[in-house]
Amino acid sequence: MKKILLVFALFGTIACNNSAEERTGNPEASETASEEKDTIQNFGIVIHGGAGTILKENMSDSLEKEYKAKLEEAVRAGHAVLERGGTSIEAIEQAINIMEDSPLFNAGKGAVFTNAETNELDAAVMDGKTLNAGAVAGVTTVKNPIDLAIAVMNKSEHVMMIGKGAETFAEEQEMELVDPSYFHTENRFRGLQRVKDSEKTQLDHDQKTAFLDPYIRDSKYGTVGAAALDKHGNLAAGTSTGGMTNKRWGRVGDVPVIGAGTYANNKTAAISGTGWGEFFIRGVVAYDISALMEYKGLSLQEAAEEVIQKKNVELGGNGGIIAIDHQGNVAMEFNTAGMYRAKMNKDGELEIGIYGE
Ligand code: ASP
Repeated sequence: MKKILLVFALFGTIACNNSAEERTGNPEASETASEEKDTIQNFGIVIHGGAGTILKENMSDSLEKEYKAKLEEAVRAGHAVLERGGTSIEAIEQAINIMEDSPLFNAGKGAVFTNAETNELDAAVMDGKTLNAGAVAGVTTVKNPIDLAIAVMNKSEHVMMIGKGAETFAEEQEMELVDPSYFHTENRFRGLQRVKDSEKTQLDHDQKTAFLDPYIRDSKYGTVGAAALDKHGNLAAGTSTGGMTNKRWGRVGDVPVIGAGTYANNKTAAISGTGWGEFFIRGVVAYDISALMEYKGLSLQEAAEEVIQKKNVELGGNGGIIAIDHQGNVAMEFNTAGMYRAKMNKDGELEIGIYGE
């Protein structure tokens, strides 16, 4: 009996896997079938613009509007790519470029300052289908570091490049380069001065928090990231950042460390993180979420809660993630007061958030 069932099951699988063209010998039928597949395949995109002490009472109405408008522009741009059948990599690149070019976020144009008053940018991308990945760290002249990370993934035999070497590669790839002064914004520069001043003055933690004005507190974080599922069933995640204000000695955060701040696997989910990078590296946050799904059978939401609300907090870190799984389920989980975030599903339903519930 078992044998008969097995034969039926096998036959059924083979029959289902045959394309419509093979079944009917008609190429038009194959087109219809692929259209059908497209309409059946779920797709969607989710983005973040950083997590941190983001409180409604510290935010002006006009700044809130600016953030929401930029998040909407970015998520819509990524969604448009998916809708016309583009890849998840193209979608996250579009969305991230828009946030990198805005001074509102700590990535590209709005990158925070190092202790040496420079801007050193990190970015990473991962393709969930092939498990290919690309990352760059400590670049100072590349306008859109996520584009360079994608070039590292697609056009080199390496996964991670740093500093001058990465910039030479960017030049060879004819990427858009800028003078380092392009990344100088007054808000971020003042942010660094405030942090330095608070270091000089021996303040306790509460006094320090009160001393730093709201915008400056936010500027400590503000990384951007995106995760998408395309019509072809492929996942991708990308993240771009200036790192943490006042970082020293060539510090590199979690963002370009594959598995820490960025991870994608078609078997599980695409994940991009934001928060205190050292703790994301030590907790291997993005991969941990994927591993809980793969090995323990947790749903994306369960895995994200376990890692962000429990493990990251117990370790002493803070931050959040956005993620989308292979079925199009989305998670936006954070243990900070707020996280800039937006998502858009297959039907074009848009959701934008800044604060906690
Ligand atoms: N995770 C980033 C870093 O530590 C900072 C952030 O997300 O804002 O470099």
